[in-house]
Amino acid sequence: MVDISHVKQIAVVGAGTMGREITEVALMAGFEKVNMIDISSEILNNARDYINKGLSKIEQKGKLPSNFTTALLMKKLNLNLDLKEAVAEADFIIEAIPEKLELKQELFEKLGHLSPSHSILATNTSTMSITKIAEKCNRPDKVVGMHFFIPVPLLRLIEIIKGKTSEETMEIAIAVGERFPSLKGKRKCVRIEKESPGFIVNRVMIPTSVYISWLLDKAMDRGIPLENIDADFAYMHQMGPCAKWDYLGLDIQMDTLKYFEKTLSPDFAPGRVLQKLVKEGNLGRKTGKGICEWTEDGKLKRKSSEKANLFDVDLYMALQLNEACRLLEEGVVKSYKEIDEAILAAFDIPGPFGPGKRNYEKWCKKLEDFVEESGKSYFLPCELMRTGKFKNMK
Ligand code: NAD
Repeated sequence: MVDISHVKQIAVVGAGTMGREITEVALMAGFEKVNMIDISSEILNNARDYINKGLSKIEQKGKLPSNFTTALLMKKLNLNLDLKEAVAEADFIIEAIPEKLELKQELFEKLGHLSPSHSILATNTSTMSITKIAEKCNRPDKVVGMHFFIPVPLLRLIEIIKGKTSEETMEIAIAVGERFPSLKGKRKCVRIEKESPGFIVNRVMIPTSVYISWLLDKAMDRGIPLENIDADFAYMHQMGPCAKWDYLGLDIQMDTLKYFEKTLSPDFAPGRVLQKLVKEGNLGRKTGKGICEWTEDGKLKRKSSEKANLFDVDLYMALQLNEACRLLEEGVVKSYKEIDEAILAAFDIPGPFGPGKRNYEKWCKKLEDFVEESGKSYFLPCELMRTGKFKNMK
């Protein structure tokens, strides 16, 4: 096991939806100092209040690591507008700025010059190539993907992704990741050696985003209130896809789909409703309105109980199984068990292979029907799914 006792100071760049929660778990991990950087004092102050509230709730439940109190942990937090000052002595830096390649490349170029030469530079990108993000950085061997899932204090998975990353950097990133506590059990760091868009979990789930985006357009065309789609979904997850997308940020959903549109297939292009909402600045929970409406303290204003009767659970699962089979075909992952375990740790829901073993023939037909109706031929069943041969890849 690699020694990470030298990792004392953490810096998190970007204090938005993800950065503030990553900062929260970095504090809970007991590092000596955690610096949080953003471009406005207002964002930083909001993030500090959010973290304070989050830690207090965890403390009230008696779930803070022993010897820690919220007050003690908050003393270790520093808010910074000046990147140079914030990373000058940081041993481990985690980037959580928007999902735009040029922004990230520019930041990693700066971080290479401003931070100590030993410090590891991790990116929380949801989709992008780590090699590309590190392209302008003077030490790509120290750049690594570290993809968290929200809510970060709860969900156990972190995907650790290799670009031009050295073995030592991979090991330090895994050890640091495992030190971040998770309230749902032991933190799970999955090592991903072969770069591909969306790594494991987002790659498996992204076709379902295309489906949801397509359903939103269909609901609008038929005059059905959009949030009724969540009522179709109520029995599957606690949160339906409309509320979930709002919670994560519609701009992030759109950037993600656009990235897959560019890297995998034009069939991933965001639909009309999603594009319109983002253009209007209705980005979800963070702006108070997206597909649904949100209170100032981030709660859903109302839930629709009336169904849209559009959502097809078999198709939803079929899309996941097909993309997961492609990951096996491409050799990104060697066994389907790894994929199912990653999805369970990421979202606390089962992966597609359990039910997929029994249903893949029926699900192939669902995919074919979807392709016929949507014209999105990327989603035709791949060879491994069609033949059922994935069953031999446990
Ligand atoms: P966000 O828009 O909520 O937050 C981004 C923050 O970065 C903003 O506060 C912004 O002011 C700040 N920022 C922009 N440029 C900056 C700079 N140069 N220096 C410092 N701060 C800067 O975005 P987010 O949802 O937190 O996403 C951040 C990253 O995490 C993205 O790469 C995203 O793909 C990834 N991610 C997001 C989710 C999610 O569900 N939202 C999940 C996993 C990973």
